[in-house]
Amino acid sequence: MDCFAGFSIPRMRKIGAIVAGLICATVLPRVACTQTSGFAPAEHTRVVILGTGTPNPDPDNSGPSVAIVTGGAAYLVDCGPGVVRRTAAAERKGIAALAPQNIHVVFITHLHSDHTLGYPDLIFTPWVVGRTEPLEVYGPRGLQSMTNYIEKAWEKDIDVRTNGLERANRTGYKVQVHEIEPGIVYKDRNVTVRAFLVHHGSWDQAFGYRFETADRTIVLSGDTSPSDAVVKACNGCDVLLHEVYSATGFHERSLEWQDYFLQFHTSSVELAKEATEAKPGLLVLYHQLYGGGDVTYDQLLGEVARRYSGKVVSARDLDVY
Ligand SMILES: [Zn+2]
Ligand SMILES: [Zn+2]
Repeated sequence: MDCFAGFSIPRMRKIGAIVAGLICATVLPRVACTQTSGFAPAEHTRVVILGTGTPNPDPDNSGPSVAIVTGGAAYLVDCGPGVVRRTAAAERKGIAALAPQNIHVVFITHLHSDHTLGYPDLIFTPWVVGRTEPLEVYGPRGLQSMTNYIEKAWEKDIDVRTNGLERANRTGYKVQVHEIEPGIVYKDRNVTVRAFLVHHGSWDQAFGYRFETADRTIVLSGDTSPSDAVVKACNGCDVLLHEVYSATGFHERSLEWQDYFLQFHTSSVELAKEATEAKPGLLVLYHQLYGGGDVTYDQLLGEVARRYSGKVVSARDLDVY
């Protein structure tokens, strides 16, 4: 099966090398594309799934985080628990841009703990292993305050590492915080990033992001109830990564939890409708909430695939698209 069907193939460079370097394991209806270790990275944009987990401490799924890798650099979205160990795992699979010490740009969708518990990890661990650049962080109101508290909480560690025998550098643990508003929030030679507001229950600000690179357009929903903003941001984009909860599992939850899900998240049925309007080349389910009962991975994917005629896959940690 051609894993890149639906992508912007004519614009992809070095397509031969890309195809040769991929193993596409077909487990219908899911398509998983993972890179072989040791394969020299081609110069195309990749979406690396670092974590698909939820607040539940499932040992098989790290906290929510995705990396866009392009032009030899990595741009992270969210930092759930375990994020830096997952970037190290991706490096072992041959993605050098995800070596922990190379990570210095991250975009936060919102400040829910499952999306930010890896934030101290992202501030300190790459520094401890040699990062000298400050971390640049973009996200909603409250991010500066959260950052200040984290740096305060670890002040004794910073003191011991910089003034003690470790002789750590004095720049790599620092953070440049950018509390953003909707619009273009970041631009460099590799990528332009636009933030857009989504509705995530009672959060005062929650963002989705659209990444435009030389060869691909990638949209991440963040956590959101069904949203026209996501449809508009995608509008035929190459890859749409969208959160989802199981409509089957939903009916097995208490009324209180049903209320919560309706306000905060997007069901499989709602997502199928939204994706039909958004028309992505590839729809990637991520941050999957299976819900009550015994909904399986394949059932959740099937709930979307039965109602949506485009290409859809359900991500697992360390998948590459
Ligand atoms: Zn959330
Ligand atoms: Zn979440």
